[in-house]
Amino acid sequence: MEPRIPQVSCSHNKLETQKQEADATVYMNFMKSHSCYDAVPVSCKLVIFDTTLQVKKAFFALVANGLRAAPLWDNKLQRFVGMLTITDFINILHCYYKSPMVQIYGLESHKIETWRGDSFRNVYLYDPSQYLVSISPEASLFDAIYSLLRHRIHRLPVIDPESGNVLHILTHKRILKFLHIFGSKVPRPVFIQKQILELGIGTFRNIATIQQTASLYDALSIFVERRVSALPVVDERGKVVALYSRFDVINLAAQKTYNNLDITMEEAVRGRTCYVEGVITCYPDETLEAIIERIVKAEVHRLVLVDRAGVVKGIISLSDLLQALVLTPAGIDALLS
Ligand code: ADP
Ligand code: ADP
Ligand code: AMP
Repeated sequence: MEPRIPQVSCSHNKLETQKQEADATVYMNFMKSHSCYDAVPVSCKLVIFDTTLQVKKAFFALVANGLRAAPLWDNKLQRFVGMLTITDFINILHCYYKSPMVQIYGLESHKIETWRGDSFRNVYLYDPSQYLVSISPEASLFDAIYSLLRHRIHRLPVIDPESGNVLHILTHKRILKFLHIFGSKVPRPVFIQKQILELGIGTFRNIATIQQTASLYDALSIFVERRVSALPVVDERGKVVALYSRFDVINLAAQKTYNNLDITMEEAVRGRTCYVEGVITCYPDETLEAIIERIVKAEVHRLVLVDRAGVVKGIISLSDLLQALVLTPAGIDALLS
């Protein structure tokens, strides 16, 4: 009789391991089995800029259309050559800003194709040596996630290879929302009940923050140097009081206030048109499931991880979630620099 006991427990363990392995790959398989086309909405607004358009007009057009980015079309080459995003607006402001009394030269007088940044700081709008990162509608969402994370971009145009048309611009937000809606049919893996700290999803060290007394120009410098997508605004004790994201910088174009970057962060936060009330945070002992629910519902790109006193301890962004849910099970670390 005795040998039977280890046999039973051994096969039970094997089953358990198989279940855990299947569990870990649920979201990876979901993304591999759905195409980018599946995540393209039935209708959406898309604006394309010709590279001969004036830089300033292009950013005003983004604001007027309520958009965050647009593909750049080169009429001579008859192809898309890049993307214009809010990060580019930040780079221009940061590169040319002198004082509130001086107009921002690079914004006022250049076309997209003629704008050349400061080569030391490696800023450009349209550089023929760079290429547009795009994806075919037939490619899998897994490939789209890999491309977004590997290139550290937030906008991925879906281009039909036959017509050459841009069908949509995929983002992390759109992909996670797609998973949230349609992935509810796949069995829920056990690991999403684990605590976020235990899973180690997010960034917990060297968090880029900005004091509320610092200037807006200081914040733009951090965006340029650290390439982070948002800064928790903190008080003198490190307690988070607001969140300022790259997206918020477009308010300066909307309000035509980009000539004064000497204002404090407190003023910048107060002056923006904000769709989100307060700061959306999370605690280290919350489950992954609770975090996904909150980030999808709030439609934000990241949660600020805080302790019970509200002091910033980390950032959990959509990039971290997609890395952990989809790429890590495939043995890929796309966020490694
Ligand atoms: P934001 O978060 O402000 O929308 P991104 O992180 O997507 O901006 O863009 C960072 C930089 O990469 C910008 O200079 C932008 O022009 C460029 N960029 C964005 N998307 C693409 C793309 N699909 N192909 C090539 N370059 C891109
Ligand atoms: P995008 O859609 O371009 O990725 P974001 O999600 O970064 O934009 O920002 C959209 C708006 O939501 C901005 O006004 C930003 O300040 C706000 N926001 C983003 N994340 C948070 C957060 N965790 N808490 C509060 N507001 C946030
Ligand atoms: P994102 O640009 O938000 O998609 O995130 C890319 C990576 O940068 C993720 O690993 C984030 O956790 C990290 N990250 C985002 N914002 C910050 C920040 N303010 N400080 C440090 N890391 C950040």
